[in-house]
Amino acid sequence: MTRSAPLTVLHVPVACCAIEALAAESALAELGVNLVIDTPESADVLVVSGTVTHTMAPTIRALYDRMPSGRRVVAFGVCATTGGPYWDSYSVLQGIDRIIPVDRYVPGCPPRPHALVEAITSLATDVLVPAELA
Ligand code: SF4
Repeated sequence: MTRSAPLTVLHVPVACCAIEALAAESALAELGVNLVIDTPESADVLVVSGTVTHTMAPTIRALYDRMPSGRRVVAFGVCATTGGPYWDSYSVLQGIDRIIPVDRYVPGCPPRPHALVEAITSLATDVLVPAELA
């Protein structure tokens, strides 16, 4: 399935990586990608940036469940990917793929903003093909 409508990315900023993700906002906007922090029902991609605790995990799972089918997920930074520097903390989830399927893992502590642009652009080859990204 492909489409040409603008892409909407639901950003869940939970720790320091979020600053880098937000720095990508204008570059993403130029590509027709809208970064939002609400309305999961209209989002195509979920980006989780930062350290996820076990307490936060059900909320992130609930946001994912509210998104339409065909949704994609980006784990931005090593905390979202594996727990990062806090992987052995009693309170930290060792990667969001423990609770939701992940399509793109972006390494780094933190990753550079352009890494998020690349991750989202790469999803254009899956189901999300805005004309600007194709
Ligand atoms: S990966 Fe590094 S920069 Fe990103 S949330 Fe974890 S500690 Fe912070």
